[in-house]
Amino acid sequence: MSILTFLARRFIAGEKIEDAVRVIKNLNRNGMTATLDILGENVKSEQEATRKADNYIQALETIDREKLSSHASLKLTQMGMDVSDGFCYDNVSRILERASSLKNFVRVDMEGSNYTGRTLDLVYRWHERFPNMGTVIQSMLFRSLEDIKELNRRKIRVRLCKGAYKEPKEIAYRDRRDINENFVTLMQLLLTEGDYPAIATHDEKLIEATKEFAQQEGIGKDQFEFQMLYGIRRGLQLRLAREGYNVRVYVPYGTHWLPYYLRRLREKRENLLFFISNFFKD
Ligand SMILES: Cc1cc2nc3c(=O)[nH]c(=O)nc-3n(C[C@H](O)[C@H](O)[C@H](O)COP(=O)(O)OP(=O)(O)OC[C@H]3O[C@@H](n4cnc5c(N)ncnc54)[C@H](O)[C@@H]3O)c2cc1C
Repeated sequence: MSILTFLARRFIAGEKIEDAVRVIKNLNRNGMTATLDILGENVKSEQEATRKADNYIQALETIDREKLSSHASLKLTQMGMDVSDGFCYDNVSRILERASSLKNFVRVDMEGSNYTGRTLDLVYRWHERFPNMGTVIQSMLFRSLEDIKELNRRKIRVRLCKGAYKEPKEIAYRDRRDINENFVTLMQLLLTEGDYPAIATHDEKLIEATKEFAQQEGIGKDQFEFQMLYGIRRGLQLRLAREGYNVRVYVPYGTHWLPYYLRRLREKRENLLFFISNFFKD
C-alpha cells in the first residue's frame, strides 16, 4: 500500500467492494445505515461510464445479497454527463431500474455549480419514472431556496449539505456564517415541507439547531435523518444513533479516490498539516 493510499484510508473504506461491505456491516451493527459510493468523477468516455454503471448495479446486488442496510450515492459526471445528458440519462436509468426492483434507493450527489441545473433537470425526469431516488442541495448556492421549493413540491427527497466545491461569489455565499445561516433556513423548510430529508453535516451547531427545531415543531425522529461522511466525527455519529436519531454514513470505496480525498483535505486545515507531515516522514 502506498503512503497516499494509506493516508486516504482515513476517508475511504478501501479499494474493493468487500472493504465497503465490511465497513457497512459494522455501521449496521452499531445502529446506523449507509450510503455506498463508488469513487470516480468526470469520466470522458461512454465505455468507461457504462462500466461504472455496471459496477453500481453489481454493488446494489451485493447490498441485497449481504442484507446490508445501505443505499447508493452516485455522481453524474461519473455516469457520462460530460459525454452528453442523453447518454447519462439512459446509463443512470439502468441503475435506477435495478434499484427499484431491489426496493433500494439511489441518491444523485451534487457536483460543482456548472452541473447544478442540468443535474436537477435530469433528476426531475428520473423521478417521474423512479420515485426511489433523490438528490442533494448545497446551502452555499443562492439558488438553493428555490430549488428546494421545487423539489419539495415534487416530493423528491433532498440531502442538505454546505457544498464542497469552490464557487464564484456571484452565485454563492463565501462567508461561513452566511452558508450556515442559509443551511438553517433550508433545513427548516425541508423538515416542515420535505419528504424525509437528510441533514448532512458534522457541524455540531447545525445538528443542535436541527434537533431543537424538530422538537419545537413536534417533528419525530423518524421524519428525517442525519448523514455524515465515513471517517469524520465517528463519536458524534454513534452518539446521535444512541440518542435514537436515524444516522446514515456515506461510505466511499474504489481506486479513484484522489479528488474526493483532496476535497476532504481542504475542509480542514489540520488535515492538510497531517497529510504534509506524513508525506515527508521517512
Ligand atoms: C453525507 C454527506 C454527503 C455529502 N454530499 C455532498 C454532495 O453531494 N455535494 C457536495 O458539494 N458536498 C457534499 N458533502 C460535503 C459537504 O458539502 C461539506 O463539504 C462537508 O460536509 C463539510 O462541511 P460540514 O457541514 O461538515 O461543516 P464544516 O464546518 O466544514 O465542519 C464542521 C466540523 O466537522 C468536522 N469536519 C468536517 N469536515 C472534516 C474533514 N474533512 N476532516 C475532518 N473533520 C472534518 C470538523 O470537526 C469541523 O469542525 C456531503 C457531506 C456529507 C456529510
